[in-house]
Amino acid sequence: LPPRPLITPPTAHILSRSAISANALKVLNRLIQQGFSAYLVGGGVRDLLLNRTPKDFDVATDARPEQIKKLFRNCLIIGRRFRLVHVRFSSEIIEVTTFRAANCKKKFDPRRQVTRDGMLLRDNLYGTLEEDVWRRDFTVNALYYNIQDETLVDYCGGLMDIAHKCIRIIGNPKQRYREDPVRLLRAIRFAAKLDFQLEPVTEKALEQQASLLAQVANTRLYEEVLKLFHSGKSVKAFHLLKKYQLLAYLFPSITPFLKDVAYLNWLEMACSNTDARINNQKTVTPAFLFAVFLWQPLQRNIQAKVAQAIPHRTACLEAARQVLAHQQRCTALPRYCSHFVQDIWRLQAKFSQQYTGRRVQSILHHPRFRAAYDFFILRAQCGQVSLELANWWTQLVAHESENK
Ligand code: ATP
Ligand code: MG
Repeated sequence: LPPRPLITPPTAHILSRSAISANALKVLNRLIQQGFSAYLVGGGVRDLLLNRTPKDFDVATDARPEQIKKLFRNCLIIGRRFRLVHVRFSSEIIEVTTFRAANCKKKFDPRRQVTRDGMLLRDNLYGTLEEDVWRRDFTVNALYYNIQDETLVDYCGGLMDIAHKCIRIIGNPKQRYREDPVRLLRAIRFAAKLDFQLEPVTEKALEQQASLLAQVANTRLYEEVLKLFHSGKSVKAFHLLKKYQLLAYLFPSITPFLKDVAYLNWLEMACSNTDARINNQKTVTPAFLFAVFLWQPLQRNIQAKVAQAIPHRTACLEAARQVLAHQQRCTALPRYCSHFVQDIWRLQAKFSQQYTGRRVQSILHHPRFRAAYDFFILRAQCGQVSLELANWWTQLVAHESENK
C-alpha cells in the first residue's frame, strides 16, 4: 500500500497564507490556474512553522521546466544535474522545481544518472508529489503547503520532527549521503541555523561518511561554505563541523592546526564577529572568511620560505598564491574573492606602525581598507598584535569618519 500522508487542516497549524511572499503566491496561483498542482515546500514552510522569517520560498509542481517557463516572462531554467526554474522578481527569486520521480528499478536512464558508488550525477526524472517527498533531504524540509485549502501535507513525519527539533534524513542515510554528499553539510547547516539536534541514525551515518565530501565539485562547496558561515549561526556551525571532523574537507590546509587551541580560538572569534555583523544587518564578504581560515597555513608557508632564504616580500606573495591555489581545489573562489583575500593579507603589514600624514591617508583610502582593518582588529582581539596599536588605528578610523 502506498504511504498515506498526514493532512493537517488550517485550524491545526500556524502557517498562514499572509506570511507567504506575494511573489511566491503569484507563482503558485498561476500554476494552479493553468491546471497544474503546485505547493509551497522546503525552507519557507519549515521556517514559517517555526515562526521564523524564511530566507526564500520554494515551490514544487507537476509542471515541467519548459511548461513553467511558458507561464512566466521573468524566468530561467538553471542547473544541469538538477534542472529547476528561477522565477525572478525585483526583490526575490522563487525557485520552482518539478516533482522528482521515485527510485526506479530500471538500470539506465539518461535522465537519472548514478555513479558506481551511488552518487547522483543527474536527477531530472519527473514524478508525482508522493514520489517527490522521498527525494527531498530532511523530513523538516519535506512538508508541502497547499494554498488552496491551506492544509499541510506530511508524508514522512516532518511536523513531528519540527516539534522535537530534530534533523532526520529521509530514507536510508548512507545511501542518501552517497547520492549527494552535500547533504552532510546541509544537515550541519540546519542543525546550526535552527538549533536542532541530529537524529542518531542521521548523525551516525554522517560520522561514518565524512570522506564523501572529497568528491563534491569545488563550485558547489564554495556556495555551501558561504551558506554555513554566513547564516548568522556560524559559531554553532563551526563547532559541529569540528565535532564531525568535516573542517578539513572544506579547508584542507588547516589540517595540521586542528589541535592548536590558539588557532581554534581565532576561528571561533572570527565566526562570532561574523554572526554579530549579520545579526546587526551589516554586510559580510566571503573574502574575510577565507582570509581568516587560511591565515595560519599562510604564516607557516611564509616561514618555510623565509627559512630557505627567500626574501620576505617575495615569500609573502608566493605563499599567498600557493595557499589560495590549494584552497581552490576544494572551494572555487571567484577571482575577485581571491584577490580580495590577498589584499586583506597584504595590507596587514601597513598596520604595523603608527604612521602620519600622507602615508596614513593612502592606507585609509585603500578600497579594501575596511576589511583589512577588521582583520587587524581580530588579530588584536586574539593577542596576535598589540592592543595598543589596534586602539591607535581605531581612534584614527573614528576620527576619519567624524571628519567625513
Ligand atoms: P534555506 O533556503 O533556508 O537555506 P531550504 O531548506 O529552503 O533552506 P534550499 O536549498 O532552498 O533549502 O532547498 C529547497 C528544498 O529543496 C529543501 O528544503 C529540500 O526539500 C530540497 N533540497 C535542496 N537541496 C537538496 C539536496 N541536496 N537533496 C535533497 N533535497 C534537497
Ligand atoms: Mg529555500
